Amino acid sequence: MTIFSKIIKGEIPCYKIAEDDNFFAFLDINPLAKGHTLVIPKIEEDYLFNLDDETLAGMIVFSKKVALAIGKTITCNRVGLTVIGLEVPHAHIHLIPITRESDMNFGNAKLKLDKEEMAEIARKIQLAFSI
Ligand code: 5GP
Repeated sequence: MTIFSKIIKGEIPCYKIAEDDNFFAFLDINPLAKGHTLVIPKIEEDYLFNLDDETLAGMIVFSKKVALAIGKTITCNRVGLTVIGLEVPHAHIHLIPITRESDMNFGNAKLKLDKEEMAEIARKIQLAFSI
């Protein structure tokens, strides 16, 4: 089982944003920006582009809802979307609040946020998602 499947099952804690029958969103533990979120399918598939069309399309629509909630919560110009997937073998979309192109650079230093701040960010995005 992948580490992300364990997160979905609640066996590993996360700062959850939202879920539906097929997808799950939670804060990246090493964020490039406040509100950096991962969206994953509940089925285990390593490579995003191996997902069937319906699942991939649904994942993009779910990501849109999450991105709009991030945009309402975090001050930014846009919410950027990227796919890397070299570290965790469970397909995931990164949603990152950005103000400039370089904010999407994974070579940038990651933020060190304390648990309380991560929980507060997640709570706010969760709220924006639900209304
Ligand atoms: P990628 O596979 O796209 O190269 O990177 C995986 C991403 O997942 C990284 O940004 C990393 O910080 C995040 N990540 C890895 N393990 C965990 C985890 O256990 N919890 C959370 N919330 N994020 C994780």
